[in-house]
Amino acid sequence: MPSYVILEKCDGCKGQDKTACQYICPNDLMVLNKETMKAYNRAPEMCWECYNCVKICPQQAIDVRGYADFVPLGASVVPLRSSDSIMWTVKFRNGEIKRFKFPIRTTPEGSAVPDGGWETGSDDLKSPVLFTEPGSLWLKEVPTLKK
Ligand code: SF4
Ligand code: SF4
Repeated sequence: MPSYVILEKCDGCKGQDKTACQYICPNDLMVLNKETMKAYNRAPEMCWECYNCVKICPQQAIDVRGYADFVPLGASVVPLRSSDSIMWTVKFRNGEIKRFKFPIRTTPEGSAVPDGGWETGSDDLKSPVLFTEPGSLWLKEVPTLKK
């Protein structure tokens, strides 16, 4: 289910040209209402629930209503990033709280190599082979069903 902005927490990224959520959304969904200085998801039905905006928001002002198998009704999942890790606080509907901390990658901004250094595969759109396959699968050929 799509992301949504908690208006009381959003500060519009303090009026910068582009807000953090606008910058990070791969689907270009987040926009800033210049009058209220609050962001919103302009096309919730297009949201991938990738959590990028949730993770980057400096005010923890974005949340996602997760599917029941991931976030049971009434529960919440809140990330808090630091420079080298991300802490997920999971609050269950019975009030129980669990925290999980993971390291994050530290590749400098703008230095990521899109293909990871792998040779890219076929440009045939009907091919089942993805961008960097078969190399990134450590295979010479991707197994497919033979006709
Ligand atoms: S990143 Fe957070 S604080 Fe900044 S505009 Fe988006 S929702 Fe508001
Ligand atoms: S969850 Fe992902 S796709 Fe949805 S608005 Fe946030 S960044 Fe965009």
